Amino acid sequence: MTETPASTKAYTTLTAELQQIAILGSCGNLVSWDEQTCLPPSGTEFRAEQLSLLAGLRHERATSKKLGDMIAAAEEALGSTLSEDSIPAANVREARRDYDKATRLPQRLVEELTRATSHAHLAWVNARKASDFGQFLPSLKKVIKLKQEEAQALRASGQTLYDALLDNYEPYASSTQIETVFAALREQLVPLVKEVAASPNKAPASILGRFYPVDQQKRFCEMAAAAVGFDMQAGRIDVSAHPFCSGVAPGDCRLTTRYDERHFNSAFFGVLHETGHGLYEQGLIREAYGTPCGETVSLGIHESQSRMWENFVGRSFSFWTHFYPQAQQQFPHPLGDVNISQFYAAINDIRPTLIRVEADEVTYNLHIMLRFELEQAMMSGDLPAEEIPLAWNKKVKEYLGIKVPSDAQGCLQDVHWSAGLIGYFPTYALGNMYAAQLFQQAASDLGDLDRQFEKGDFKPLLEWLRSNIHHHGRRYSASQLIERITKKPLSHQPLLDHLRNKLAPLYDLKTVS
Ligand code: ZN
Repeated sequence: MTETPASTKAYTTLTAELQQIAILGSCGNLVSWDEQTCLPPSGTEFRAEQLSLLAGLRHERATSKKLGDMIAAAEEALGSTLSEDSIPAANVREARRDYDKATRLPQRLVEELTRATSHAHLAWVNARKASDFGQFLPSLKKVIKLKQEEAQALRASGQTLYDALLDNYEPYASSTQIETVFAALREQLVPLVKEVAASPNKAPASILGRFYPVDQQKRFCEMAAAAVGFDMQAGRIDVSAHPFCSGVAPGDCRLTTRYDERHFNSAFFGVLHETGHGLYEQGLIREAYGTPCGETVSLGIHESQSRMWENFVGRSFSFWTHFYPQAQQQFPHPLGDVNISQFYAAINDIRPTLIRVEADEVTYNLHIMLRFELEQAMMSGDLPAEEIPLAWNKKVKEYLGIKVPSDAQGCLQDVHWSAGLIGYFPTYALGNMYAAQLFQQAASDLGDLDRQFEKGDFKPLLEWLRSNIHHHGRRYSASQLIERITKKPLSHQPLLDHLRNKLAPLYDLKTVS
């Protein structure tokens, strides 16, 4: 028997510990999924105890001296014998990064943030109900102050406070790079929205507000999720107030949705979106579970997967060439007198609206940009919290051309800031841009994707995503991944091309911008 080399031993000791920590985390995920899908109301209070105990245990282990020593031993044993992006080197690099970040936060700050965001959440719920920003202001100020402290503790040299928080969701990203692509995108999106609004062609959106019975919607959604590749033996779809996807554990990925009998889009495109997230979770390498190379790389890349299946696939004509006859069969009353072209126009209705989560594929990005700008100014101190409503309303007018009638429909609409999720928003629009650039590359690698979708064949695209993205975990950063796959850095152009090509025939737009 050959002796195990010291480097292998130190490395396997580390990965075994990381796996244990991941299993603890997965117990928390399961308990949290249960809270949002089937917990009886009287169990809520005790559930908070269960969740906080599990989170505490996990945090303790993820910041323990023991883990720190294991990482140091693995670093020393591996030395510089491996190439930088080999799997062991990437696992140790990312484990070090996570550990340093987690241990840089003082326990007092973590606890204060938990308390402050729990109060802020309540204040936000009430303020939104009353449409009164003033009720939320004191709690928001407190959250901003604590997040500034957090950023101060986390930031690397040369990093802005905002970038330190952005890194929690989009590791290695910088706001300067994001601002550059956002600005280029915005410059053309704002006029595109105006062009569409000025078009005499109006989408027959009201057909989507007809009566769609829940049972049929459920059947149709599950059929579509399975048809694009979601493994129902390794996942399930349930109902919750806010749709989400939870990769609980290998072989167990849970999606949720909500059904609205008077709105076809809500559940169907919600399920396709969460299915995209779920396919990513299901595509991670099972043997790498618990190690960075078995984890998703960033929220932006995660969102690129959901947006790709929801918009690039699910809102394409070829997708509906395949599914529309089945839709008409499932919904004979609302869709019996509607032809596929009318349906396609309705699901691609573009118009400026006030609420981000209901926004279309084009205007959605502008909703994100304004939040990105405001939260950077909040963190740097340039925008006092008192002035948020005014600044918000001004940006909505500038980007979307509409007036905000109330705070509830303006700066109070999102839960993020009350939960301390500052730096999260840009990942949504990054997801759209990543999706466009990846989809363009997939089309060039795989030939005629439309032809495949028309036949209900989604396997080549899924396999492509699996081998190019899912299987790598966190081996490469998001931007490295994009460059490796597409041979170019992230650009605004593929998204613009996609939108203009799709909308030109629908709205009689000029084909060349
Ligand atoms: Zn998403």
